[in-house]
Amino acid sequence: MADIASQMANDSAVYKTLLESTKAIPWKIDWKSMTFAYIGPQIEALLGWTQDSWISANDWAERMHPEDREWVVNFCVSQSKSGTDHEADYRALTKDGNYVWIRDVVHVMRNADGEVDALIGFMFDISDRKKTEAKLIDMQKELEALSFKDGLTGVANRRMFDTVMDAEWHNARRNYQPLSLVMLDIDYFKQYNDHYGHLQGDECLKTVATILGSATRRSRDFFARFGGEEFMLVLPETDQDAALKIAERCRTLICNEALAHEKSGICSKVTISLGVGTIIPTEKDKLTAFIESVDKQLYLAKQNGRNCVAATNAP
Ligand code: GH3
Ligand code: MG
Ligand code: MG
Repeated sequence: MADIASQMANDSAVYKTLLESTKAIPWKIDWKSMTFAYIGPQIEALLGWTQDSWISANDWAERMHPEDREWVVNFCVSQSKSGTDHEADYRALTKDGNYVWIRDVVHVMRNADGEVDALIGFMFDISDRKKTEAKLIDMQKELEALSFKDGLTGVANRRMFDTVMDAEWHNARRNYQPLSLVMLDIDYFKQYNDHYGHLQGDECLKTVATILGSATRRSRDFFARFGGEEFMLVLPETDQDAALKIAERCRTLICNEALAHEKSGICSKVTISLGVGTIIPTEKDKLTAFIESVDKQLYLAKQNGRNCVAATNAP
């Protein structure tokens, strides 16, 4: 008998040493009194609060970030009441006023009658994991934003144009509203590149995009780089008259900027040509056909001598 008793005492000493030398912090709460029966001494190294300052479950709840407290306490109490093992992530308050992300993994112990007797668990320090998670989320957001942005000019890219154009097309059809589209293309840009070099060509594209990007006033007006030296302006709830005025304003803005272009076929400045289309889409209209019709107007503007606007007939 004595051997078994000393063996058991030995075993529990082994278990205690094991528990208190792991990184995870073990604890036990007596369910009836809601007091700590035990908490590992490692807690002081992690949070700064001494082992013997953990007296009631309230100490646990109070040393939690206010934003986490309510749902964590409610969740843990309801899970414990129903006898379900559970885990919760929350920010634990440190003695010096900072927070550490904790994952608390809880096992519900019952007595012989099946009633909840105690909760035992481990607290894990998951701050590094949370930091990595937060960084990944930030990177994902950045990537998402970048994937809709043109790398050179910083304005919306073709992909974003497709998404917005499609949404506005359906909107206009549903609400019987006119939708206008302006296609803008820099004149003699090949010659610009050939004469000034590709890098200055890039700078020119950036300047043109910046000017055109701030040429509209309504918040739903949308400007994008369509590709190469072509840009698109989507103008919801805009009839042809208004669209023509905006197109003309864009043309003038670029012209007035007076960016040198010695090899332009029409003058010595950078200019743009614009095609304008307006439609109240119906079931039988196709978006691709509409975009093609605007492209045709742009072609006509080029034919008409460039540095000008051409438009489809009003609907
Ligand atoms: P048009 O007046 O008829 O529009 O003639 P264009 O020379 O402007 O048109 P074209 O389509 O023949 O040439 C477009 C040029 O735009 C050719 C291409 O090298 C240049 N380009 C397209 N994308 C970029 C870019 O990202 N950077 C630079 N620097 N040039 C580009
Ligand atoms: Mg061009
Ligand atoms: Mg072009």
